[in-house]
Amino acid sequence: MKVELRKTFQFEAAHLLPLLPEDHKCRRLHGHSFKVEVLIAGACDPELGWLMDYADVSKVFKPLWEQLDHRYLNDVDGLENPTSEVIAKWIWDRLKPELPGLSSIAVEETCNSACIYRGEWMPV
Ligand SMILES: [Zn+2]
Repeated sequence: MKVELRKTFQFEAAHLLPLLPEDHKCRRLHGHSFKVEVLIAGACDPELGWLMDYADVSKVFKPLWEQLDHRYLNDVDGLENPTSEVIAKWIWDRLKPELPGLSSIAVEETCNSACIYRGEWMPV
């Protein structure tokens, strides 16, 4: 049986988007309650009846959360231009080696705006 697991995390952070024009609202310093949704796909272990322990996803995400939560994202290595898109790939690149079944990362800045990243295979 193949399944997909979803685990969500939240972090609070400030950022600005330095490449936008001065008069764009996202160019000004502001903050979000970011929501990150991690999806992992794979086949259930027939004995255990699960794909993996949700707690293991949390364990792998924790060091990233510590780098993101209550931070000025522009100061984080690799997030000098911290759009949702860049944040999603930044998280993907760090989680994928630990979670081979990782199938997507969604980063929501607000409850109605999100970027979903599925790795470089995704057709555009
Ligand atoms: Zn923003």
